[in-house]
Amino acid sequence: MPATPSPREPGEPAFVIEGRRYAPAPYAPGTLAFQYWQGEIALERAIRVWEDLFDRDFAAWQGGQPLRVRLRAGRDLNAFYDRKSLQFFFDRDKTSGRTVYACESLDVVTHEAGHAILDVYQPGYWSSVDLETASFHEAFADCSALLTTLTDASVRRAFLEEGAGAGRKSNLVSRLAEALGRAIFDNYGPGALGDPTRLRDANNSFRYEPPESLPAGAPDSDLAGEPHSFSRVFTGAFYDLLVWLLAREAKRDPGEAGVDRARRLAGRLLGRAVETLPPGEARYRAVAFRMREIDQSEEGGVASIGIEEAFRQHGMALPALAARGRRGARSGGRRGSEQGARRGRMAPSRALRALDPDRPGGAAALNAALGLPGRTRLKRTSMPGRLGSGVREQFIHRDWIRVRHPALRRPGGVLVRVLCGCTLTRGPSGDVEQATIAPHPHPTAAAMTRHVRRWLALGAIDIRRDGLRTTKAHFKARTPFRVGRGGVLERVYFE
Ligand SMILES: [Zn+2]
Repeated sequence: MPATPSPREPGEPAFVIEGRRYAPAPYAPGTLAFQYWQGEIALERAIRVWEDLFDRDFAAWQGGQPLRVRLRAGRDLNAFYDRKSLQFFFDRDKTSGRTVYACESLDVVTHEAGHAILDVYQPGYWSSVDLETASFHEAFADCSALLTTLTDASVRRAFLEEGAGAGRKSNLVSRLAEALGRAIFDNYGPGALGDPTRLRDANNSFRYEPPESLPAGAPDSDLAGEPHSFSRVFTGAFYDLLVWLLAREAKRDPGEAGVDRARRLAGRLLGRAVETLPPGEARYRAVAFRMREIDQSEEGGVASIGIEEAFRQHGMALPALAARGRRGARSGGRRGSEQGARRGRMAPSRALRALDPDRPGGAAALNAALGLPGRTRLKRTSMPGRLGSGVREQFIHRDWIRVRHPALRRPGGVLVRVLCGCTLTRGPSGDVEQATIAPHPHPTAAAMTRHVRRWLALGAIDIRRDGLRTTKAHFKARTPFRVGRGGVLERVYFE
């Protein structure tokens, strides 16, 4: 298939929409020309939104190659990201008779772009078998859709007219992928989707429970231990934070510019948390905790109460900030000492320099802080910040844990990759400014077996010895995991 690269601004990650390129003009929905521009504009917008929110610009995708975009990949009511491409599917809505194209939905395109963008900042989440981490990937993708939708001033005005989330009403911003949801409901019935007006709704009251304790499947009105279902807990909390920030903003500016400021702050807190979280796993509470730390250190604490309330409403209470340390509620307070979640905690500032692997003794000190033997070699990746703002580095230790289970039909079992390590940011002078660590030891084989068993129950692992060849074949079979070379369990796609 011929592919025409479209010109990007320098420093932006490249994507290539397959097929011919169309001149800009008004086109009818359902035509390739319309879909070409819809895809182009939606992707461009998602990239711009996140470039604005992160301190570190992403000039390349995970893997370094331009992302290929296939607008009409085949029949399905879905789409996927597989580290090489974004592929969008289409199908006929049996009730309306119309063909629904996933690539025409801004929500779907910006959701898939969200997977690709998170993968740039936290590539370790990709092959994690931790159900909560996989669910966070989905939640981040839905937040990407929410934040991109709200960059449109006419959407912001309509959102205000609908009450801007007040009174816990579902609305045009909280409802995600409306057309796709309608087609899934029409074609597969209420068993597949309880509410025909959307695929998922960020305005929800789902409360956190350990995802492993939830059933593998449940009606859409209940929570299941499946990533798309469980993602709604985090997305719901993020949306509630947005509504809280909006109510605060509305006291000063009830117009759509106030909505945009609330959007930008909520997005920035999430983006900065994602940039600075340690490698390994993404647990909802640890992400929220990090968002509050970012708010305290970078935003003057204006959102901390909102973060606490939003996450508490969804069953995730954060430890209290020390009264004298809280910023925002009181002015001028010093940051108190946090004894929060073990993973994702900030290293005390005095110890930061000692952990710098570029300084004498730093590598050994970092290993000691991680609980690793002194000579362990960590894999280092760097991501430059914006002009003059220093770099972010991740130091990662990878390990493989052997998991055996009869359903895998492999006497040697499979190897599950687990990570620990450190994310640090340096100032313009090169000094370490922040560091977060996810320490060793890694989870036990028994804990990993529980995770793998859940993916097996979801039918999500292709266990055949000869395996499926293409991502699309995996996607059709609904198996996002495969057993790769050396028996290593790998992710193939996020949908
Ligand atoms: Zn997804």
